[in-house]
Amino acid sequence: MAIVIDDDACMGCEACVETCPDAFEMNGDGDKAIVKESDTEADCVDEAIDACPAEAITKS
Ligand code: SF4
Repeated sequence: MAIVIDDDACMGCEACVETCPDAFEMNGDGDKAIVKESDTEADCVDEAIDACPAEAITKS
């Protein structure tokens, strides 16, 4: 599974990091989320996708 965050759409709310810290973390500036482990099979990835208010997370 590949997870992608649309940088332009991400508003840095940290919901994905709180929901699924195995897969997501904040960048060095703390204003955007980045994918920490793109091939994770963590169940919480789907929860993070649902939790993202910007619909910035996709997986394939
Ligand atoms: S939940 Fe969405 S908008 Fe919020 S930090 Fe994560 S990717 Fe960005």
